[in-house]
Amino acid sequence: MPERGISPPERVLWIDGRFVPWEDATVHVLSHSLQRGSLIFDYMSVHATSRGSAIFRLREHTERFRRSAELVGLPLVLGLETLMAAVVETVRANPGAKAVKMSAYLPSIEVDVVPQDPRLSVAIAAYDPWEDVIRRNPGEWQRRPSVKLWVEKNRRNRREDILAPQAKVAANYTSPMFAKWAARRRGYDEVLLVDEEGFVAETPTANLFWVDEDGVLRTPPERLVLLGVTRLSILELAKHDGVPCAETPVRPEELMGSPEVFLTGTVAGVWPVESIDDQPIGDAVPGPVSARLRERFIAVSNGEDPAFHHWLTLTAAG
Ligand code: PMP
Repeated sequence: MPERGISPPERVLWIDGRFVPWEDATVHVLSHSLQRGSLIFDYMSVHATSRGSAIFRLREHTERFRRSAELVGLPLVLGLETLMAAVVETVRANPGAKAVKMSAYLPSIEVDVVPQDPRLSVAIAAYDPWEDVIRRNPGEWQRRPSVKLWVEKNRRNRREDILAPQAKVAANYTSPMFAKWAARRRGYDEVLLVDEEGFVAETPTANLFWVDEDGVLRTPPERLVLLGVTRLSILELAKHDGVPCAETPVRPEELMGSPEVFLTGTVAGVWPVESIDDQPIGDAVPGPVSARLRERFIAVSNGEDPAFHHWLTLTAAG
């Protein structure tokens, strides 16, 4: 039976152990997390498979969520199994959901940068993230099939700072947001962030891969990037399929001559790059390795490959 879509008034969020209506999921404007960017989050996809709704790599996303809390010192007391069960329950309560966003934040009103009241709230939303976007801009929002990438020339947008790039904390997205916003105004789709020494890291919300002349699939080292679950999945799929892989530092100039470059992320999927700073990449977009991995990734995410069913958590009751 097709899953029924969910209209906004029926949507509910799981907040600190109970369901609340979508409209009631609010915090005070003076809350610590809004004022100081201390919210941590994770975001995962939900797929309609022949065995019902399934969450893609729930355990890995939930582990990363707990790791983000640890990296920024937020006292998240809920354990892995409790959080995973809450995500499944929330997906069940919101039929038709296509994604889950899990957040932990400090709702208290604070004067000091260090919170006096360190009680965290946890909120889980299972929803269709594009529903509101499309409602606001019907027909206007459409993602281009390939990416025009701009290299951020200001080398302060991704570096090992006090905040680890491995933490999905709101404050980590502020400077990348400005960089991407500026690139968008110049007509590019995405911005490539580099570290202080000029090595490529990632885009604000996606990891980067390239294929070299010898057919080796390469990606920047873990130290520089958020450990994307799609990145991990692409590396595992490539290894499974016999494609050689390596983590390698790279400068933007070196990427320009690669036969294939692509981005990965929960929202991006496998997204081929057509140009970097207006220099075309490869002969065809997507190139053969990217096209094959994209196809594989979509099939696995939709539950069409039994060898990777363990990446999916089914949510149907019973
Ligand atoms: N890098 C950053 C900074 C991100 O925010 C994301 C999105 N979570 C990614 C990479 C891709 O990660 P994933 O594949 O887990 O969505």
